[in-house]
Amino acid sequence: MLQNSNKKRIAIFGSTGSIGTQALDVIEANPHLFTAEVLTANSNDQLLIEQALKFQPNIVVIGDERKYNKVKEALASTDIKVFTGEQALEDVAALDCYDMMLAAIVGFAGLKPTLKAVQAGKPIGLANKETLVVAGDIIMQEAIKYRVPMIPVDSEHSAIFQCLVGETRNKIEKIILTASGGPFLGRKPNFLVNVKRDHALHHPNWNMGAKISIDSATLMNKGLEMIEAKWLFDLHHSQISVVVHPQSIIHSMVQFEDGSIKAQMGLPDMKLPIQYAMAFPHRIRNNFPRYDFMRPDTLNFEEPDIKTFRNLYLAQIALEKGGNLPCVMNAANEIAVYAFLRNRIGFLDMTDLIERTMEKITFIEKPGLDDYFESDADARNFAASLIKL
Ligand code: NAD
Ligand code: MG
Repeated sequence: MLQNSNKKRIAIFGSTGSIGTQALDVIEANPHLFTAEVLTANSNDQLLIEQALKFQPNIVVIGDERKYNKVKEALASTDIKVFTGEQALEDVAALDCYDMMLAAIVGFAGLKPTLKAVQAGKPIGLANKETLVVAGDIIMQEAIKYRVPMIPVDSEHSAIFQCLVGETRNKIEKIILTASGGPFLGRKPNFLVNVKRDHALHHPNWNMGAKISIDSATLMNKGLEMIEAKWLFDLHHSQISVVVHPQSIIHSMVQFEDGSIKAQMGLPDMKLPIQYAMAFPHRIRNNFPRYDFMRPDTLNFEEPDIKTFRNLYLAQIALEKGGNLPCVMNAANEIAVYAFLRNRIGFLDMTDLIERTMEKITFIEKPGLDDYFESDADARNFAASLIKL
């Protein structure tokens, strides 16, 4: 077990989100192991203030500068330092005062602070998969350079990471990412064309933020996770496979060269991979409900329907082609999801928008960081222009 004397000081970037709030639950349940040192939010000032008053961090950052005064005033009677703006997120990520970043911002916005934390030598608990989708080569190179552990929080990648403990000398033949299939498993385009926001937001097994819920409904989430896995585990695209497993009990699997397969299992609860990442290499006790093999469920497995859920097909193309294509795809997807959530485009229009953007933006085989930022901006502008956002 971890010692009481050296509590890990956690910086939660994106503390007001689904992952962020669950990370705070883990800290609250284990006050002898962890403290919340930094909390950041984009615009939810009210929740950030409540969290700050409860957890008494050293620093909070509110992204939206219009909310700064309100947060500052609410915390005036405390010692908590309050900063605001995009640059502040990066500056705070580079500070010495914390031990681990929990990267729980959603989307491309998480990239810069995470990169700064890596370059400051901070271990990362990585929920923000988009960081690796956009610039996985650069992030992983920097992680090696600064000897930074990248511990996945995404449940599938946490599962693979857990399966690999003790296997450093053994080659991976392939990994098998499990996918729940989302709320529209088995549906066809004639149904999907009429799907609305609220239906798509309702995931059968997980309660998550809006963006990842839509990504799960379109299967883009699994595509992003294939790319995330490539970088995290240094795999060739041919080693990454997906199987639909609607019950979300097996969180993913690793098949080794001898054909042996390891799986990591449990009831779906994001607090498990969050606390595993925070406490690694230790496991900490909890009283979460346990999976019961005696209950009358069966575990099912089937092939993903990439003809219907074409986002997964597009992500496989991006994974295989590499370069700036995953970055472009991610940017177009962020615009598509944003527009869908505001009822500006239909469910299937999201795929068209992404595909047209991937065709339009110039391919760069070996991009640098600036190329990624430029590709992201170009892809966003082009995608937004298609739907007159
Ligand atoms: P969420 O929308 O619930 O929360 C996002 C957090 O990021 C909030 O705190 C918000 O204030 C902050 N944020 C949003 N935009 C920002 C910006 N421009 N600048 C600074 N901060 C910003 O999202 P979530 O579901 O918690 O997901 C967070 C990340 O974790 C995503 O990358 C997601 O793919 C990944 N993830 C989530 C789950 C899950 O169960 N929710 C599971 C696996 C992976
Ligand atoms: Mg996942």
